Amino acid sequence: MNLQNALDFNKFMGKTHTKPTEGHKVVVSKSSSVPLYSSCLRVLLLSIIFINILSCTQTEPSRSEFALGTVCTITLFDQANPSVYRDVFNRIREIENLMSVNISSSDVYKINENAGIQPVQVHVDTFIVIERAIFFAESSNGAFDPTVGPLVNLWDITGEHPDRGIDKVPSQEKIDEVLPLVNWQDVVLNKEDYSVFLRRQGMALDLGGIAKGFAADEAAFIIEKAGITYAIIDLGGNVIVMGKKPDNTLWKVGLQNPTILDIPFIGIIRTPQNSLVTSGVNERFFIQDGLLYHHIFSPLNGYPVRNRLLSVTIITHNSMSADALSTAVFVLGYEEGMILLESFPGAEAIFVFEDWEIRKTPGIDFELIDESFRMN
Ligand code: AMP
Ligand code: MG
Repeated sequence: MNLQNALDFNKFMGKTHTKPTEGHKVVVSKSSSVPLYSSCLRVLLLSIIFINILSCTQTEPSRSEFALGTVCTITLFDQANPSVYRDVFNRIREIENLMSVNISSSDVYKINENAGIQPVQVHVDTFIVIERAIFFAESSNGAFDPTVGPLVNLWDITGEHPDRGIDKVPSQEKIDEVLPLVNWQDVVLNKEDYSVFLRRQGMALDLGGIAKGFAADEAAFIIEKAGITYAIIDLGGNVIVMGKKPDNTLWKVGLQNPTILDIPFIGIIRTPQNSLVTSGVNERFFIQDGLLYHHIFSPLNGYPVRNRLLSVTIITHNSMSADALSTAVFVLGYEEGMILLESFPGAEAIFVFEDWEIRKTPGIDFELIDESFRMN
């Protein structure tokens, strides 16, 4: 195993952190993935609460459900109409049923089953998301690649296949075997009949890097149509803050700490109506032999991306774009990611690095609250 491709777990835990870390000791052993996952979930839940507390002094009703592989929370501030919650969650489930790789009746499942065999006609929503995914694949020179499915299956970061045993890092041989199947240029889209074809058998789409963004945009559309003036949508870290707060102040959103220490937030982002999406190593990972393997893969070498970054947050007006861009910029790394962002005016970014350094683009109002991190 090339150590360049994996993150030292001690580093991730913040060996250099100056604040006490008692009560958060995680034994790094081959079976450590369970406590780590529960830790991740806790951070996720805290992030949702944090946004609510910062955004509004009143306790307003909100609804959380598990969908799209994550906790989705909708908060409607001015009219907490149950039918709007219902419509939003129905739409989220509809999108999940079309785009999940695990649901055997989904469009994506059928496309993957028919890889190298025949094109599959899909719902217009699925077609739009795949078309957009291909656009971002092309724009990022393949850093974002919706055909990463074979790598996602092989690495099994989320532990869908516990039967494969404790040593989860795949052999180089296996990586070499599946890597040629990852190529967005082998996706054939036909707008005439909304069909999608993967040219080679064994190829597989995975829309995990973009579909939540589409779902968040759709949720915002329903909420806006219902005449609700201000609301928060949080689909597992894909956040949309909508409307203006009654006191005319900006929304405050917590930037999640991408390490797994007990301090959940690094700082506060102040923003008008916007989408904020983070891609980070802490969302899904496992530890083996003291090294951390996360869920965002390099289509070049087939390993979890290792480029000094712990997370990238993109802030822009459209959640689907923010979602694809956060993944793409994470894969590209800071320098190339900044070049990509130049072609998306209005998109801003915050980068958190392994050495606890933070960089941001000039258009973001960000206040650091955890002094263990430093701005550059
Ligand atoms: P995100 O959290 O939005 O950055 O998306 C990460 C998810 O996208 C992963 O869990 C995979 O399902 C998928 N993915 C992993 N690597 C890539 C990549 N290089 N391009 C596109 N999608 C990816
Ligand atoms: Mg993404």
